Amino acid sequence: MKEYDKFNILREGMVKSQILARNITDDNVLNAMKKVPRHLFVNENYYNDAYSDHPLPIGSGQTISQPYIVALMTQELELKKEDIVLEIGTGSGYQTAILAEIAKEVFTVEKIYDLSKNAEKILGKLNYKNIHFKNSDGYKGWVDKSPFDKIIVTAAPKYIPKPLIEQLKDNGLMMIPLGDCGLSQSLFKVKKMGEKIIKKEICGVSFVPLVKDYT
Ligand code: SAH
Repeated sequence: MKEYDKFNILREGMVKSQILARNITDDNVLNAMKKVPRHLFVNENYYNDAYSDHPLPIGSGQTISQPYIVALMTQELELKKEDIVLEIGTGSGYQTAILAEIAKEVFTVEKIYDLSKNAEKILGKLNYKNIHFKNSDGYKGWVDKSPFDKIIVTAAPKYIPKPLIEQLKDNGLMMIPLGDCGLSQSLFKVKKMGEKIIKKEICGVSFVPLVKDYT
């Protein structure tokens, strides 16, 4: 069997058993998960494991999220094709690709230089033209491209960083895990309505911490 066919079959299996089976119903999300070659976002040693039901290491002590969590966060963002999205924690760039399949533009911020450059390289090879990269501290967001329709944070802070609230459009949505690494963390769906912030708890999760920059 050709490598190409093998990964296509693994990917279809992933969508069927991990995504569809767990009540992800948004066609845009399902199609993006069927299309994006997840194995290309991990080291070659992990290619055969790239479609399994768990996170994987991506170097620099970081991880690519479990496929289901990527699908769930994307579905809960209620993405529209005209949306401008801010992502905090580019990591491997896999979640970035899923967002870029659905939304108009994705602005993605990553603190670790090597990860940001590597993601830029892979996503360039895959020919995405609507992704913009920044190697910077995600607590600050990306002020000169704000406001955003949607914000997704893929590492866990203890509280919602104020700049991210400020950079979200009125009626905008944010998906963010909150809590201590290794202890209890929950995924929240946050809606900004004027001065009001409405937080809905979605489920328990386990993300790497959104590292605070003390410099
Ligand atoms: N969405 C990613 C998973 C990323 S893991 C994927 O699909 O692969 C979380 C990422 O957040 C890591 O790459 C980590 O380096 C990054 N991160 C941690 N603290 C950060 C900060 N303060 N600012 C920006 N990125 C940060």
